[in-house]
Amino acid sequence: MNNNKPNTTNFIKKLINKDLLLNKYKIINTRFPPEPNGHIHLGHAKAICLNFGIAETYKGVCNLRFDDTNPTEEAIEYVKSIKKNINWLGFKWNERAHYSSNYFDKLYSYAIDLIKKGLAYVDNLSHNAIKLFRGTLKSPGKSSPYRNRNIKESLILFTKMKAGKANEGKACLRVKINMTSPNITMRDPILYRIKYIKHYHTGNKWCIYPMYDFTHCISDAIEKITHSLCTLEFQDNKQLYIWLLNNINFDIQPKQYEFSRLAVEYNITSKRKLNILIKGHIADGWKDPRILTLSGLRRKGYTAKSIREFCKRVNVTRQNSNIELNVLEACIREELNENTIRIMAVVNPIKIIIINISKTHKELINIYNHPTKPELGNRELVFSKEIYIDKNDFRETPHKQYKRLALGKEVRLRNAYIIKAEAIEKDIKKEVTNIYCTYDSYTLNKKPLDNRHIKGVIHWVSSKDCIKAEFRIYDKLFNIKDPNASIGFLNYISTKSLVIYKGLIEAYILKAKLGESLQVEREGYYCVRGICYSKINIVLNRIVTLKHSLRFPPNKS
Ligand code: ATP
Ligand code: MG
Repeated sequence: MNNNKPNTTNFIKKLINKDLLLNKYKIINTRFPPEPNGHIHLGHAKAICLNFGIAETYKGVCNLRFDDTNPTEEAIEYVKSIKKNINWLGFKWNERAHYSSNYFDKLYSYAIDLIKKGLAYVDNLSHNAIKLFRGTLKSPGKSSPYRNRNIKESLILFTKMKAGKANEGKACLRVKINMTSPNITMRDPILYRIKYIKHYHTGNKWCIYPMYDFTHCISDAIEKITHSLCTLEFQDNKQLYIWLLNNINFDIQPKQYEFSRLAVEYNITSKRKLNILIKGHIADGWKDPRILTLSGLRRKGYTAKSIREFCKRVNVTRQNSNIELNVLEACIREELNENTIRIMAVVNPIKIIIINISKTHKELINIYNHPTKPELGNRELVFSKEIYIDKNDFRETPHKQYKRLALGKEVRLRNAYIIKAEAIEKDIKKEVTNIYCTYDSYTLNKKPLDNRHIKGVIHWVSSKDCIKAEFRIYDKLFNIKDPNASIGFLNYISTKSLVIYKGLIEAYILKAKLGESLQVEREGYYCVRGICYSKINIVLNRIVTLKHSLRFPPNKS
């Protein structure tokens, strides 16, 4: 795959183009149908971009519909968060949001119709027995002894179930299809089960709830969805989707098409597994920047545009693949490279004392905020006797190719002068605390007089113009490429997914807004963030490194 060329079409659009040529539809209708049982992640973003994108391309309609058939897991807080995240991503749904639970009355009457047609029956087998009777891929299922009970009896029992006169787990409604079908989904699937649980949307009105498979296809048909797009794991359910709609006699029958689920290297893209991470306090809630929930990505500093761009690049296919993490990172990196100001900060500081200038020296150096975009403004950098560089940019005894500061060697300070390390001072632990340097006053942003070649350029901040900052260096949460595929994914949690450094940054940061992103030169792209944010206590989240090859830990190369 060429990661830089967005694909403008996909196999679903090709199918739609064909349908339109054959005059099958006047208008293309899609829907995004989340279950409100968790917060949405990057995989959902792919489905959102696909469904809303198709509506945009074909001037059709995309509904947001909550497929809320399981009151045990669902909550209004998820509805709110899903809506907020879809809006943030840049999409608007048609009219008001839809809810499958608004169709519960209709669904009930369709169930009654199926019973009357002799196509559904109340079963009194236990949950375990139903499972056992269903058989396996290798062995056919066995009919329940209640399968042939008469229609009248099933109608009475189902009405009793609805009226709360049956116990949970003691009765359910099943559709009568084929207990020996090679497709296990077709072996008399359950349509309704009893749950004495309050539903976040319908309250206590119901104590029987329709199953997802029954609800989903009917909700699609009620909403006149033309193309019902879902992920590949629903392939086996397609036969049931078609069977149910055929036997309920809808005049419009939506068609189901499947595409591959999104998986990204070193990450989890399953709500259920994300839930395990959060409940186990491995992730710090749904907004943890180390997980691929939309709120986590946003908190980390990803923009909606970069996520839409990512969804374009991965495109929609039927091949399952584990997308390289770099495809995601490249999207935000390219965007930030274009429009963020550059600032200098020292994540792991060590002091430099310039011996050939006075203590009171305070020189202002005017620099542009962006190398190619003067419209992003300029600022004054302070050069003074005491400055800080990164510990990682100094070696007492360097190797031959070492390009940064070393005893007796020269290096250029970014946007400023060439300095030479003359002497060092150490503490009792034999760690270098101060580096004494001379500077070449002729070399402010120009070559030295004798044209000698200086290889390295390092970043720095002046003690007269810097403030303390906390740098949160985020890295991969998992240390294996495909935690999605691993049952024991919790065994592969990285211990380096968050390292916090206390460093220094140019005081210019005080002009930045909360949530603003910037490039910290030679370190990475960072977002001004955190509950501790205030004018004197800055917290910066690393969004992404400057280049694909990770320098990690950042101060150890
Ligand atoms: P999860 O497995 O994360 O719990 P889900 O499929 O149960 O996800 P839903 O709320 O039912 O979550 O998903 C809404 C829509 O988003 C569905 O159409 C589903 O197919 C799609 N979707 C969910 N996860 C992914 C993914 N990783 N990649 C692409 N689409 C996805
Ligand atoms: Mg689902």
